[in-house]
Formats: sequence, structure tokens, C-alpha cells
Amino acid sequence: MTDRFEVTARGTRGTLPPPVPGGSAFGVCTACVAVRNGDRLAVLDAGTGIVPLGYAPARDGPFEVDVVQSHAHCDHVMGLPFFLPLHDLRFRVRLWYAGAEGAPDGAALLDAFLRPPFLPFGRRSLKGRLVFAALPQAGTVDLAGGTRLLTAPVNHPGGALVMRLERGGRAFAHVPDFEADFGHLDAALTAALRGADLVFLDATYTPEDYGPHKGWGHAHWARRAEIAAAAGLGRCGLFHHAPWRSDADLTRIAAAASAARPGLFLVREGVAHRL
Ligand SMILES: [Zn+2]
Ligand SMILES: [Zn+2]
Repeated sequence: MTDRFEVTARGTRGTLPPPVPGGSAFGVCTACVAVRNGDRLAVLDAGTGIVPLGYAPARDGPFEVDVVQSHAHCDHVMGLPFFLPLHDLRFRVRLWYAGAEGAPDGAALLDAFLRPPFLPFGRRSLKGRLVFAALPQAGTVDLAGGTRLLTAPVNHPGGALVMRLERGGRAFAHVPDFEADFGHLDAALTAALRGADLVFLDATYTPEDYGPHKGWGHAHWARRAEIAAAAGLGRCGLFHHAPWRSDADLTRIAAAASAARPGLFLVREGVAHRL
């Protein structure tokens, strides 16, 4: 067992998986980040990246997995029905979900889309042991292996969360979907980002293509450079790449972002970051 985190994005794209012939160096799956410490696995969002992530545990474990949902937009849940541990009786999967006020809990969330005519099976026919855990909109809970999870709400249509994982003096903060802060650098968000060894931030747009999408719940990379400066962030990965971006587009954005602020980079699917 180690106190070190290993953070690997298994899906970096927002909205939908891009149909990129020949693949992409930045990734082709939607939002999913795997965080390992020792033999423990936490999965932040269940976009399509959770599907290939499930192949290895289905062979070798770990057999207890925490899946944490920042929110339930389809690019963040569309892989969940196909996560093999849910179909394997050796596994125990804890699903952490914080519905906004009046929104369904994790069980109701799954019942809403794990059913015909969307899928030929329902929640009750899953073979894996599925446990529903309440996630606070703002607060802390303990995940498996002594990892602490802190949440706070961020500005996104229907609500979404920043998820900060801490263990052994190391911290990773992930904000997969959010637009501007609330007109200023929100105190709760700042606190969730401060001092983190690694941060991933939604940067779907460029300053050039943001205009028509204002209010859609995402921001452009130059705004993230400002937030990184205001919050004193070091290693800061830009995440939730628009599905229409080619690798040439993303390479240009990466160069502009790192020139604007050292430490800014574009998150790539499958690259492990050790903290
Ligand atoms: Zn999204
Ligand atoms: Zn969203």
C-alpha cells in the first residue's frame, strides 16, 4: 500500500465521443478519471472511458470500486451500464451521487435509464453488488482506503461538483464541467483547488468559439489560465475537450495555454500522473 496517488484520465472529451478516424493522441472517450492509491480505485465520472477501464479490474481486481459522479449529464454516465464490474458478482461498486435539490438519488438515477427501451436490462439484473452512497453537494466523505473526498458546487446547468481527493498529504482536484465561477472566484471552489498537487479543469472552448456557447456550462482555456493564476495552481490540466477538435487543434491550444501560464497542459487519455 502506498500513499501516492496515480491519476489517469480514461476519457478526456466532453459531450460525446468524437468519431476520429485513426484515434487521437488526446483521447476519444468521454469524461472519466481513474485515481488509484495502492490497490484502491476511485473513478470520477462514468463517461465512455469507464468501459475499457473496467476490463482490467474484471480480470485482476480491485474488487471494490468507488464511482463518483460530478453530475449526471449523459457524457458522464453513458459508460456506466457497460462497466464490467457491475455485471460480475465478485465486485462491490459504490456509486456516489449528489442529486441537486429534488433530483433523484443514485438508485432512481440508474432506474431512469437502465431500462427498456434504452437498454435490455435493468439495475436489479446486475450481478455485481451495487451500493448507493449519498454525496454531499458540499462536504467531505471517506472513500475506500482512507482517501478523503471533498465536494463543492460549481456553476453548470443543472449543477455539478468539484471533486477533491486527498490522502497522505497529496491532493488532486477535478472540475470536469463548469463555466465561469459565480462572477468572482468562488470561495468554496478556491478552497477546493488551493494547494492541490494536480488540478483538471473544464476548458471546452477557445476564446474564439466561446461566444455562441456562453451559458452552456463550459469555459475557454484563457479563462482557466486566469483561474490558475488567481488560485496559484501549479500542474493544471485542461479537460473536457470539444468533440470536434482535431489533434492539430488541440496541439495549438496546448501551446497557447502553456505560453499563457507555465504548468497548464491538455489532459491526454491514458497518461498517468503520479502525485
Ligand atoms: Zn460534460
Ligand atoms: Zn455537464
